[in-house]
Amino acid sequence: MTSPESAKTEPVRIEGVYKKFGKVVALHGLSLTIQRGEIFGVLGPNGAGKSTLIRSIVGLIKPDQGQVWVLDEAMPSKPILSRLGYMTQASALYDDLTVRQNVAFFAGLMGCRDQAKIQAALELVELAHRADSPIRTLSGGMRQRVSLASVLAHEPEIILLDEPTVGVDPQLRAQFWAHFRHLTEQGITIIVSSHVMDEAERCDRLGFIRGGQLLAEGSAESLRKQANKANLEEAFLWFAEQKEMVQ
Ligand code: ADP
Ligand code: MG
Repeated sequence: MTSPESAKTEPVRIEGVYKKFGKVVALHGLSLTIQRGEIFGVLGPNGAGKSTLIRSIVGLIKPDQGQVWVLDEAMPSKPILSRLGYMTQASALYDDLTVRQNVAFFAGLMGCRDQAKIQAALELVELAHRADSPIRTLSGGMRQRVSLASVLAHEPEIILLDEPTVGVDPQLRAQFWAHFRHLTEQGITIIVSSHVMDEAERCDRLGFIRGGQLLAEGSAESLRKQANKANLEEAFLWFAEQKEMVQ
């Protein structure tokens, strides 16, 4: 299946995606377009549908209705998977394997066996010196860095990070965001979810979601302006109220 002409330039295009789990509507006809080389933040409270949205972009969830296009392919698409890096919300690392073995394992799943790339990913997250340590001996923040290295080694074009900075201290969080910015400067597209509004300021554009619906999208500044609020927390609530009024 090929994409419509309009999808050619955007790395991710989500069109009217609807997904139900039993009686729970996780995504409620959500449409969104992500631009190349941007950091797009998916913001919303727990249960908003952030993880479901990310999993539907990666192709792990098939929408009940609607369509996701990634790099001009209709998802789910196996060939596209190796061009994506997906860091799940819960750690997927193997405790008894070393840092390097974990990164090599996940890179290998994506078809990358290049030791130099694995080493480069370890250096990027500043863990080369712990390459031979078993995961179980690492702090929470270090584990998060290994998870990040694990999705970077195969040099994906799009990186999807589901709440990557939960449990990460402020200093490391700042480092993570510096890495993200460095990656987008190389043309990589980043989609990152968070329920923490203070992280939103670091994104190029944001999508506010709640109840599986997109409440608003735009830069932090434009969202504050549209809502006429001083901060994003208040802007989010204002957009949520507007949505309720029209329903
Ligand atoms: P978020 O990541 O924003 O916290 P999720 O996408 O995980 O939200 O979940 C959205 C809603 O869908 C929640 O009500 C959640 O309980 C439900 N949900 C998500 N995944 C499943 C699943 N595999 N089975 C049943 N319900 C699910
Ligand atoms: Mg989630």
